[in-house]
Amino acid sequence: MNDDKTLKVKGAPSLAELRAAGMLPSVEDLSKGACLCIECVEEIPCNPCETSCPQGAIAVGTPITNLPVLDGSKCTACGLCIAACPGLAIMMKDGSGDEAVIRFPYEYFPLPEVGQKVTMCDRMGKAVCVGTIKRVDTPKRNDRTAVVTAAFDKSMIAEVVSMVRLNRT
Ligand code: SF4
Ligand code: SF4
Repeated sequence: MNDDKTLKVKGAPSLAELRAAGMLPSVEDLSKGACLCIECVEEIPCNPCETSCPQGAIAVGTPITNLPVLDGSKCTACGLCIAACPGLAIMMKDGSGDEAVIRFPYEYFPLPEVGQKVTMCDRMGKAVCVGTIKRVDTPKRNDRTAVVTAAFDKSMIAEVVSMVRLNRT
C-alpha cells in the first residue's frame, strides 16, 4: 500500500498525507502544550470550523472548498471548533505532561464516564492503547456532539484520534 494514497483507498488519511498537508503538529509542538489538530485533507464545501472560531484562527475563505488553515498564534485552545466540525475532523492534543491528553468529538451512546478505562484508536478505528476518561462535555451549544477528554500513553500521541465505541448494555 502506498502510504500517500491511504485517504483515497482506505477512507482515512495516513500520517504522511497529514504531514504533507501541514496538518500534523510536530512532537516538539505537542510537547509544549495543547495543539489543535485539524485533519481535513479533502476539498469539500464546508466551513463551520471557520465560522465557529471566536478568534478568527481558522481560515477557509473562498472558494468554500479550500482546505482549512489554522493560525496557531490566534488559537486559545477553547475547543469550540471541535464539536462544530460535521466531519469530526478536529481534535486537541497535548503532550506536555506525563501522559498525552486528547479532546475529541464523540457521537455515540452510551457516553463514557469520568475515570472509565477505554480503548483508544487510530484513524482506521484500530485499537492502539488504553485510555482514561478525564472529562465528558455535553453543553447545549454542541448540539448532541459530546467532547471527550482522555489521557493515554504518550508514545501513541500521533496515532490516537478517538476511542473505540462502547458497547450498548
Ligand atoms: S480551539 Fe477555539 S480558538 Fe482555537 S481554532 Fe478552535 S474555536 Fe478557534
Ligand atoms: S468544519 Fe471540519 S470538515 Fe468542514 S472544512 Fe472545517 S475541518 Fe473540514
